[in-house]
Amino acid sequence: MGLTGPVTTRWLLGDQLGPHFLDAPDQPVLMIEARSVFARRRFHRAKAHLVLSAMRHRAAELGVQCTYVSTDTYAQALDEVAAPLSVCHPTSSAALRFVVGRGNIDVIPARGFATSMEDFDAWVQSRGRRRLLMEDFYRDARRRRHVLMDDDEPVGGRWNFDADNREPPPRTPTLGVAEPEWPVEDEIDQQVRDDLDRWERDGDVSFLGHDGPRRFAATRAEALALLDGFIAHRLPAFGPHEDAMLAADPWMAHSLVSAPMNLGLLDPMEVVARAEEAYRRGEAPLASVEGFVRQVMGWRDFVWHLYWHLPESYRDLNALEATEPLPDWFADLDANNVDAACLSGILADVRDHGWVHHIPRLMVLGNYAMQRGWEPAQVTDWFHRAFVDGYDWVMVPNVVGMSQYADGGILATKPYAAGGAYIKRMSDYCRGCRYDPGTRVGPDACPFTAGYWAFLHRNRERLSGNPRIAQPLSGLDRLSDLEPLLAQESARGSSAP
Ligand code: SF4
Repeated sequence: MGLTGPVTTRWLLGDQLGPHFLDAPDQPVLMIEARSVFARRRFHRAKAHLVLSAMRHRAAELGVQCTYVSTDTYAQALDEVAAPLSVCHPTSSAALRFVVGRGNIDVIPARGFATSMEDFDAWVQSRGRRRLLMEDFYRDARRRRHVLMDDDEPVGGRWNFDADNREPPPRTPTLGVAEPEWPVEDEIDQQVRDDLDRWERDGDVSFLGHDGPRRFAATRAEALALLDGFIAHRLPAFGPHEDAMLAADPWMAHSLVSAPMNLGLLDPMEVVARAEEAYRRGEAPLASVEGFVRQVMGWRDFVWHLYWHLPESYRDLNALEATEPLPDWFADLDANNVDAACLSGILADVRDHGWVHHIPRLMVLGNYAMQRGWEPAQVTDWFHRAFVDGYDWVMVPNVVGMSQYADGGILATKPYAAGGAYIKRMSDYCRGCRYDPGTRVGPDACPFTAGYWAFLHRNRERLSGNPRIAQPLSGLDRLSDLEPLLAQESARGSSAP
């Protein structure tokens, strides 16, 4: 890695599409659309559409400044390029290895994150032997970037408003806030659809899910309109219900900026600044603004840095020795063949949009996968392929560590396992379900409630040293129906609940 002269052509990868990935507005640009990326793995079709639409829109904006190569592999395209190239630090270890391995591409520091790799390293050094905690990282980042600070103190006198932001959903079918600013498709989207249809017909690729109207921003203008609408109409309601789920309202007051931010169309610091301005103008409550800032410059950056900080073998950890394959009904988003209302509704949302917010991901999809002992590497791969905002750096720490507890407690202090009582409290799914969240055994037994106890039983030894799970483990001994429950869940196996 070295310094970049003004004459290098900037190779923009598909998630580096904003103006902040160029050193000057007129810098020559190379973009490569490599079909082999889609041939290797079965991605959600809405994701393939979004990425290709975003790349082609960016190339159209840049006009003659951009050389756009459609090819089979990156290597084929690069072999044809004579100009000296530079690239911003890629976002996956495989891509970094490839770029460095070419030997003649200048790799410059990562852009698109609130904390630099140097500042993260300095923070890690400052911890000594103490655990790497997101909360402490986040507070350090707030101080360093001076976000939501009054001099050296957090505004409002508190760093953390989580306790205010855990309300159950309202008793209405939707949250009742204005919808997100939906993008309007154009001829580039139509051309992308035609190409994807042709590639599928030719048997070159196969996709998951539905490619309905494009829901996520593919251009900087669309991303800014989305952000404007969120700040003006949705941010005030974001905080209180950010952990709640409504069957008829997948979007609730979530920002949807993760997709354009992970495409590089928005910089996290501009997003955070807009939220803080709304608070300072008195247009959004502090709890909502803090909860949002925590997600953007806390969690998002923390996960990014852990991805590079942890050894590459982290992705293969399997502390709970979970070895079951993903069943087809789950892997293929076959929501119509699932009776469990929460799982069916959320799989349908993923099928239709390639997106649900963090709680359905963690507490329904991930929770079910962990309860059933599905192999973490397969679960990680599925989340990466099925979500429009999923990338290797996002999903490896989030799924291996947070969601599946496959790292044995490096990232999370306890497994995010929960029974139907949690889903009943935080959603309206149970009202329309054929199962009963309070029943463990019998035809009405909730698969999440029964699965929770079966999970604890299976992992009793492995989790016995964790004080945060001691109370639920001791609850196992008080279950009078554990034997029939285990027989019931064993018989359920990998069939759709
Ligand atoms: Fe999900 Fe169980 Fe509630 Fe049905 S009863 S919606 S399966 S948590």
